[in-house]
Order: sequence, then C-alpha cells, then structure tokens
Amino acid sequence: MKVQAIREIDSRGRHTTTHRQLFMLPSGKMVIDTPGMRELGLFEAGEGIHASFGDVEEWFGTCRFADCRHQAEPGCAVLAALKDGSLPRERWEHYLTQQQEHKYVQDRTGYLISKRARDKMTAMQGKQTRKNGGWKK
Ligand SMILES: [Zn+2]
Repeated sequence: MKVQAIREIDSRGRHTTTHRQLFMLPSGKMVIDTPGMRELGLFEAGEGIHASFGDVEEWFGTCRFADCRHQAEPGCAVLAALKDGSLPRERWEHYLTQQQEHKYVQDRTGYLISKRARDKMTAMQGKQTRKNGGWKK
C-alpha cells in the first residue's frame, strides 16, 4: 500500500516536471536518470551484461543448484572452472564487477524514486515554486 502510493505520486509528477539527474558509477561512467527513460536504461544495462558475458554465464547452467551464487556452493560449475583454469579468474572478477555496477544502478534508482516521491509530497504541502525546475536543453 505504501509502495503503491509512492508510485502514484511519482507517475503524477512525470507530467509536471522535467527533472533530470545525473550520477556517476564507481567505474566512472555517467548515468542520466530521466522520468520515463528509467526502465529503458536498466533494460540496456541488463542486456549489456548478458551480451558481453555469455561465455561466463554458460557455466551457470551446469551448477548443481539453480539458485547457485557461485561463492561456496557444492557442485558449483563456476568454482570448478576457476579451479581448473577453464574460466580465467580475471574474467570472472570482471563479470562480478559488472554485476555490482548493475545492482548499484538499481539501488540508486530505487533511492531516486523514493526521494522524488518525498520531494513531491513536500511540494504539495508547500507552495508550488519549482514547477519547471531542472535543466534546460
Ligand atoms: Zn555456481
């Protein structure tokens, strides 16, 4: 119920503001957060991982457990491949870095959604002064 209320406020806000946010990932990449573009951005981030790490993710299908986290699970194909050298360790670590970055974007987006909702509530309680705030193109 709480989440639904936030989403309602957020989607209403999209019609009246042109607010944008830029933030930097640990790797130094810049990400732009604009209302309406968010899902697209996350979709691309997720697809990018699958496209460039297909060789790494191939191992996942051969793990003993479907929900294997590839850390210390028995029968983990990734750990076995790392051990016998089939999967280069630096390749695996690169993959993990990308995963963390993707997670960071999702966490950060969740934070921005709730922050935006809070801003909206504050704006509704007070007077409307920032109707067309944000950057000019
Ligand atoms: Zn595994």
